[in-house]
Amino acid sequence: MAKKQFKAESKRLLDLMINSIYTHKEIFLRELISNASDAIDKLYYRSLADGLSGMNREDFSIRIDADREGRTLTITDNGIGMTKEEMEKNLGTIARSGSLDFKAAMEQADTKSGTGDDIDIIGQFGVGFYSAFMVSDKVTVVSRAFGADEAWQWESTGADGYTMKEAQKDGHGTEITLVIKADTDDERYTEFLEEYRIRTLIRKYSDYIRYPIQMMVERSRPVEDPEAVVDEGADQNAAPQYETYYELETLNSMVPLWKKQKSSLTDEDYNQFYKEKYYDMTDPVKVIHTNVEGVISYTALLFIPGQAPYNYYSKDFEKGLQLYSSGVMIMDRCPDLLPDYFSFVRGLVDSQDLSLNISREMLQHDRQLKAIAQRLEKKIRSELLELLNKDRESYAAFFKNFGLQLKYGVYEGFGMNKDKLQDLLIYYSSREPEEEDESRMATLAEYVSRMKEEQKYIYYAVGESVEKIDKMPQTEVLKDKGYEILYMTDDVDEFAIQMLREFDGKEFKSVSADDLEIEETDEEKEAAKKKEEDTKDLLAYMKDCLEGKVTDVKLTQRLKSHPVCLTARGGLSIEMEKVLNAMPMDEKVKAERVLEINANHKIVDTLQALYQTDKEKVKTYASILYDEALLIEGLHPEDPVAFATAVCELMI
Ligand code: ADP
Repeated sequence: MAKKQFKAESKRLLDLMINSIYTHKEIFLRELISNASDAIDKLYYRSLADGLSGMNREDFSIRIDADREGRTLTITDNGIGMTKEEMEKNLGTIARSGSLDFKAAMEQADTKSGTGDDIDIIGQFGVGFYSAFMVSDKVTVVSRAFGADEAWQWESTGADGYTMKEAQKDGHGTEITLVIKADTDDERYTEFLEEYRIRTLIRKYSDYIRYPIQMMVERSRPVEDPEAVVDEGADQNAAPQYETYYELETLNSMVPLWKKQKSSLTDEDYNQFYKEKYYDMTDPVKVIHTNVEGVISYTALLFIPGQAPYNYYSKDFEKGLQLYSSGVMIMDRCPDLLPDYFSFVRGLVDSQDLSLNISREMLQHDRQLKAIAQRLEKKIRSELLELLNKDRESYAAFFKNFGLQLKYGVYEGFGMNKDKLQDLLIYYSSREPEEEDESRMATLAEYVSRMKEEQKYIYYAVGESVEKIDKMPQTEVLKDKGYEILYMTDDVDEFAIQMLREFDGKEFKSVSADDLEIEETDEEKEAAKKKEEDTKDLLAYMKDCLEGKVTDVKLTQRLKSHPVCLTARGGLSIEMEKVLNAMPMDEKVKAERVLEINANHKIVDTLQALYQTDKEKVKTYASILYDEALLIEGLHPEDPVAFATAVCELMI
C-alpha cells in the first residue's frame, strides 16, 4: 500500500518526537486520554444539542489495555470518532499551536544538546497526538465516526509517512494502539505497560477527567474450595490458596475535590487532599477554596503549609500553583500565579477560560492568567489578615515559617510592595504580654495604638535573640519611659525597616541610632549641657585615643545603669554592618561608630579626674570602654589579648 507523506512541519515534529531525549515522555498518556475525553465531550454535547435519545453520560468511558507480551498499549474511547477525511486531516498535520511551540523548544534544546533544566519546560506543552511517538515504534488508529457505517485505520511507524485502509470496528469511537519501544540503556519503556505505572500516571495527570478511565486489573483472592478442607491428609494450617482474577477498575476519581461544594467538604477532606497531593506530613494552617464566576471564571484551592519545605529558603525552591484547564492539568508549577512574597502558597487553579494547549511563554503574556493572579494575591492577603486577627497563635506559627519571606517582600524592589505587606508583619516587643495574649508579638498597628502621647517614633532594637535584645543597655531609658520597643532578630529586618521608613505617619527609630531624640525636661537639658561643657576636652582626648575606631565619643542620657554603648551615625547600623560583611563581598563596610558614655555614671567623674593627673590611664580606659561596648554589641574586641591584659592590670 502506498505511503502518504506527512505535511512538512508535521514530519519535522515527528522526527523530533521519535528521537526525543526529552525526559517527560510519560505525558503521551495524558495527551491521548485528553483527546479521548474531548472526543466524548463532542459527542455528548452533540447528543444534547440534537436531542439524540438513548445517550447517557454514564455510557461513556475510556479504556486502557496493556499487553505486556505483545508490548501494546491501547487507548479506546466511545466518543465521536473520525471519518476517513478527518483522520487524514487531523493526524497528518499539526493542528495545534502547542505542538508548534513544543517543536521550537525541542529544536532549541536539541541544538544545545542538553538534557538539563531547560528541556524540562516542554513538559508543560500540550503536545498532542504525536507525543505517542516518543514511546512507540508504531501507532495504529482505528476509528469509526458517530453515525458512519465504516471504520478506518491509520497507521504509521514514524516520519516516513502513514497508511490508510478500511477496517472493522463495532460502534463509534477511536482505538489507538501503540507498539511500545524496546528498552534501551537509558530508557525503560516497558514501564508504560505496567499496571502500577499506568495507574500512577492517570492519578497524576488525568485524575479529574470527567469520564471513567478503566483498565482490567489483576487481583487475587483466597480460593474457596470446600473439598480441600475434607481432604484428610491436608495440613489444616497450610496457608490459604490464592487465585488470580481480573476486574475492570476505574482509575480516576472523576470529580475533582475543588469542584465539589464547599459545604460538602470537611477540614479532614482538605487536609487529606493537601497532604497526599503535596507530600506534606503536616496539616496546612489555612485552606482557601474559592470559586469565581464572571468575566474570568476559575476555582482556586490554595493551602498555606504548616511547615516550610526543607528547601524553601534556598534557590532550589520553585514557587507555583498547578494549573488546570477544565480538570486537565496543564502545568505543574505555574510561577506566574504567585508573587514572590507569597511563594509559600501551594495549590491549584482550574479555569475553563484557559486553553489546554497553552505554552509557558504564552502564559506569561496571558491577560486572563494575570487577572487571576491579581485576584489570588488579594485573596491570599485578606485571608492572612483574617488569620492574624482571629487566630494570633496560628498566625504566629505561620509567621515563624514564612515571615521572613514577607520581610524580603517588603525589602525587594525598593519597597514597592510594602503597602500590601506591612500589615502582615508581626514582631516581638518589650511589652510584657497580658494574660489573654497568646503571643508576645505585635503588629505595627498595635504598636502605634499603644504609643505614648509624647512618643515620636516607633522604636526598634536589633539583635541576635529576643533575650539578648532585652538586655541591651540602649533599651533601658526607653523602657523606663514606658515606651514599647520592637525586637528584631532577622538579618533582613533592618533593611526592610529602611524601606518602610514609617508606619501610620510614625517614623522608625533604632534604639542604637545616634540621635535618639528622647523628650527631656528643661532642667535635664540644662544639666546635660553643663556636663557636656565640662567634659569637652576629656571627650576630645578620648576620641583622639580611639582614632580610626570611632567617629565620635560623646555623653549620653540614654543609658541608665550601663557605663557605655556603641551607636551608629548615618544610614548604616552596626547590625547591618554585620549582615553585609557576612556576605561574600570583596569590600567590607564599616558603620560610623559612636562611643557613648553614660553621662550620669560614676565613670565620667573618674575619667574626668584622671584626665587631670594621668592621661596615659585615660587612654587605656578609653580602649577598655570601647572594647566593652563592642562586646555588648556582640562584636569582638579588635585585640582581645590587649583587652584581657588591660582588665587584669586593673585588678593587681
Ligand atoms: P488537538 O487535540 O489539540 O487538536 P492532536 O494532535 O492531539 O491536537 O489531535 C488532532 C486532532 O485529532 C484533534 O483535534 C481531534 O480532532 C482528532 N483526534 C485526536 N484524537 C482523537 C480521538 N480519540 N477521537 C476523535 N478525534 C481525535
